Amino acid sequence: MKITFPRMGNTHIPIKALLQGLKLEVIPPLPISKKTMELGVKYSPEYACLPLKINMGNFIETLDQGADTILMAGGWGPCRFGYYAQVERDILKDLGYQFDIVILEAPDSRLSELFKQIKKLGKNVSLFEVCKAIKFAWYKLNTVEQLEKKLEYILARVADKNAAEKVYNNGLDAIDKAGCYEEVAFALRSTLNKMEKLPHHNRILLKIGLVGEIYTILEPAANYNIVNYLGRLDGEVIRSIYTTDWINDHLLGGKIKKSNHQHIINCAKPYLNYWVGGHGQESVGSTVDFAQRNYHGVIQIGPMTCMPEIVAQSVLGKVSDEYGIPCMTMYFDEHAGTGGIYTRLEAFMDMLQRRVMEHNKHKFDLVAGRN
Ligand code: SF4
Repeated sequence: MKITFPRMGNTHIPIKALLQGLKLEVIPPLPISKKTMELGVKYSPEYACLPLKINMGNFIETLDQGADTILMAGGWGPCRFGYYAQVERDILKDLGYQFDIVILEAPDSRLSELFKQIKKLGKNVSLFEVCKAIKFAWYKLNTVEQLEKKLEYILARVADKNAAEKVYNNGLDAIDKAGCYEEVAFALRSTLNKMEKLPHHNRILLKIGLVGEIYTILEPAANYNIVNYLGRLDGEVIRSIYTTDWINDHLLGGKIKKSNHQHIINCAKPYLNYWVGGHGQESVGSTVDFAQRNYHGVIQIGPMTCMPEIVAQSVLGKVSDEYGIPCMTMYFDEHAGTGGIYTRLEAFMDMLQRRVMEHNKHKFDLVAGRN
């Protein structure tokens, strides 16, 4: 069996480790390129949301490399994700590809169900080896996420943004290649050390909450690398979704680490009091949470036509008015261009900087008794 799976941010690093631990031959998805997009767009229904199209591009590239099995997540609920896997399978079969597809269904927080599905994937592996593979993949995922958070923090502060990104990319590479716990820990330690040594600038720093649809938040190719671009504009980005939190909340019943999911849902309740699929309710709750923590602004992102995010957007104006926090929504599809996207981001950051300067001036006047 030569197994492949879709790319979503850096999750390919732990997923590869998990599948290799299950003694499977893995063909990891290639980094998402112009070619990936073109293939996906060419063979997907026009009305499908961008993540489905990118998945399709991923699959065609790896099937062409010899993959014969696709691992895909299943789902249910009011949005289209529930039938992604089936649509993708049918299109690929129509194109003449021969392959099996394994759909991991969301186990609704039943840990034993998830474990059973993973165990079924492994070929000739003992229960002990399955546990070992899951533990190592979880460790890699946590390590990757620590690096991601460090980059989000440091990129806004350092003078040499290129150097920070280079250190980060080398660190990810080293974690991906690491074959044991010691090597992973060493890669993390040395990357964090190098990042901490980079000199800082002393310009105004802005704290930006990033909310929205999970794939768009996690995959830089789907969001035109918004996190790094904001970092380059001295914006420290904190995302509403990190993969370990999502796994903990949705697959593991919140048992592995402290969860703030209920708090986010409670924050959303005055504005959106029911589940609308995807992460619509979380987008609203996280915006309220960011506002309560005095962030400078919130950016909501999602694929064009994403139903849950459109519902969330319809109430974000009210949240913005009541909390006095600027919110901007951006939708992406294959027709979006970097020029327009980056101009909007620069204008938003510029406006936030002016607000900070005005606020600081007002505070200074008050202290000086010059109201
Ligand atoms: S959450 Fe949005 S992008 Fe994801 S499948 Fe549903 S509609 Fe599409």
